[in-house]
Amino acid sequence: MSKIKSIKGRVVLNSKGMWAVEAEVESGQGIFSAQVPSGTSRGKYEAIEIEAKKAVENIEKIIMPKLVGLEVTGQKKIDEILIKLDGTENKSKLGANAILAVSMACCRAGAAVENLPLYSYISQIYMVETPASFTWVRPLQVFPCFNILNGGLHAGNDLDIQEFMIVPQLESFRENLRIGVKIYQKLKEILKTKFGSLAINLGDEGGFAPPLTKTKEALDLIMEAIKAAGYEGKIKIGLDVAASEFFEEGKYNFEEEKKTGEELLKFYQGLIKNYPILFLEDPFSQDDWNAWQDFYNSLRSYGIIEKDFFVAGDDLTVTNLKRIREAKRKETCNGIILKPNQTGTVTETLQVAKLAKKFGWKIIVSHRSGDTCDNFISDLAAGIKADFIKAGAPARGERVAKYNRLLRIEGELTLP
Ligand code: PEP
Ligand code: MG
Repeated sequence: MSKIKSIKGRVVLNSKGMWAVEAEVESGQGIFSAQVPSGTSRGKYEAIEIEAKKAVENIEKIIMPKLVGLEVTGQKKIDEILIKLDGTENKSKLGANAILAVSMACCRAGAAVENLPLYSYISQIYMVETPASFTWVRPLQVFPCFNILNGGLHAGNDLDIQEFMIVPQLESFRENLRIGVKIYQKLKEILKTKFGSLAINLGDEGGFAPPLTKTKEALDLIMEAIKAAGYEGKIKIGLDVAASEFFEEGKYNFEEEKKTGEELLKFYQGLIKNYPILFLEDPFSQDDWNAWQDFYNSLRSYGIIEKDFFVAGDDLTVTNLKRIREAKRKETCNGIILKPNQTGTVTETLQVAKLAKKFGWKIIVSHRSGDTCDNFISDLAAGIKADFIKAGAPARGERVAKYNRLLRIEGELTLP
């Protein structure tokens, strides 16, 4: 047992040189902190991030007085109080950044009381309502998705697709990380040779941002790097199209054309046929439900959905129970991106993960483009046994913080 003694807020910097929120929770066990990331291509229906300075004020003046004296291990109760205290649908009163920083710091403090690593503590909370057997299928089943080539809002080039990810298919996390790094370095060599050193400048998530305009050119370069590194056949590709960003007046401004949903669908079908694509994230805009339905239906009629391929909602589903239920009812996707700051508390994040699992959907736990070295999402991914994690390229401090933490988790889980 350990009660919350005090909570402090602090304005800190994120990887994009923007102000972010840190919370420090003091309990009998010591001080536990957490930092909240920030998205650039944010979904319209995400929980609201407010100015960091104001969020810190809310932590100290409004949140702290209500939480002091509570047991840190009462994650659900703490989060319920935070949700009630805010009282809005989208956390716009206190700010999702204020609320989540406190929620995550309490989670770390709770893990310390239970004397558990954070991922085990998360898995314990996750299973609380259904304490079934919790066995690891293999030491760590999370596959990393490395965003090695950046476009969209994350880069200063003209590629419309935001994230080109490689997903190595080997058994262990360590091996997948090793391969990811090899391909990343190969791609760097290829880009430098073909386009000169300006082409190896990096985007927000540590992937290269070469001066390309066409999706296929980017994919061909990635396939060349995979081949040159010697891993042909062992790598899948994931694309975060982030299509809400180029949707305007019912059309998609894509590769210098105004495309209909139907035309974009055909374009994707071509990609799936010609490249080893495992998933597409946000292939259509967050409000273009019909296009999502048509795409999902077409994949089903080809028989490739679920077996070799999945469609993931990010802006569409925004880690939100209502949006996910709607996405299921309308038959639009079979996977989600799980981002704690889209919803605002640890408890709600876990509820969303549970629902997605109940639907049999794939889960990709995700960082944000403006991130910090906080590695909470690594423990989250391990704790809920997520299928994948995306944390950018295997480069840059705030990205490798997540992968390095997973290396350590895998090491701990492999111990007898
Ligand atoms: C994303 O769209 O999946 C993403 C990580 O980008 P951002 O953080 O900019 O929303
Ligand atoms: Mg996305």
